[in-house]
Amino acid sequence: MDFDRLKTLLAERGEPAYRLAQAKRAYFVDFASSWDEVTVYSKPLRAKLADLPWNELTVMRVQEAPNGDTVKTLFSCVDGQKIETVLMRHEDGRNTVCVSSQAGCAMACAFCATGTMGLKRNLTVAEIVEQVVHYSRWLKPKGEWVTNVVLMGMGEPFHNYDNVMKALRLLNDKDGLNLGARHLSISTCGIVPGILKFADENFQANLAISIHAGTDEVRSKFMPVNTPYPLAKLMAAVRTYMEKTNRQVMFEYLLLKGVNDRHEDAEALAKLLGPDYRLVHVNVIKYHPTEAFDATDRDKRIDFVRWLHEFGVPATHRVTFGEDIDAACGQLAVREEKGQVSQGLDAVRLSRQAKEALKK
Ligand code: SF4
Repeated sequence: MDFDRLKTLLAERGEPAYRLAQAKRAYFVDFASSWDEVTVYSKPLRAKLADLPWNELTVMRVQEAPNGDTVKTLFSCVDGQKIETVLMRHEDGRNTVCVSSQAGCAMACAFCATGTMGLKRNLTVAEIVEQVVHYSRWLKPKGEWVTNVVLMGMGEPFHNYDNVMKALRLLNDKDGLNLGARHLSISTCGIVPGILKFADENFQANLAISIHAGTDEVRSKFMPVNTPYPLAKLMAAVRTYMEKTNRQVMFEYLLLKGVNDRHEDAEALAKLLGPDYRLVHVNVIKYHPTEAFDATDRDKRIDFVRWLHEFGVPATHRVTFGEDIDAACGQLAVREEKGQVSQGLDAVRLSRQAKEALKK
């Protein structure tokens, strides 16, 4: 729901200001799924507003992991763009929605399925928020609700900065979804101007950085963002953020077999993040292969975390969700060929096949 547009339409029709609050309550508290359910508005008023879509996303496909801990939904936007959103249901009762901020992504990280799609367009505020509200509706009959939101789906959130911030503020607003800011997280691949801007927001949402290497030499092999924003520039921005906000920063580290998982890689990361680790935490993440790289095995992942601990770096081995339905880190991708929508690793294969065909 585009609440800015609704506000304008209500004002044009001379409706009192409380009408907007009523619609927000129907959307964010009652989780009404269509205008028909907004019975606090008269039928004639609903008819006048019917051109404004209550929902901007249409569910195309739902995949649920066999153990029920992950649900992935493929949505179609009003203009036909496809995006994916994942719900992760934790054993401790938290329900985290991994939200997309763009259809596709321009950043082309070599380990990431979304990166193979290229950028289609930025998502609107309404499209970002609706991904969370969709799962709120889904959870409501189970007596559960969304507890956390992470901007870690398709897209680079800081390349859609204004819409992402507006969406987060709406999710946080007491007249919106009323989710605590500390339950909201933005994950960036390292867009320095975005980090600096975010440091001045006076908003308590969490910041995560996809670091994945401790040297420019290694990082540049698979993250093109490292050319405009090499590690020295990135860490200077992160330190400015820490100084201004006094908030901890999460560093995401995907382990790629034989690429960034050696003892010397752990040492380089420790040097990069130190010597003061007070506001630093590293999440070591299992890689879910997308044909580009192999995954580091479990014992080596545990070794890597131990090495970081030995260097004094706070680190954990992150539990991952959804590998069996291509819903894990780096596996979100959608591709449409001749009316057929393929997702996840199938989409990556199609993308590669298309590129190979072009080369011939
Ligand atoms: S990892 Fe994130 S920033 Fe990199 S290509 Fe994938 S979606 Fe884009």
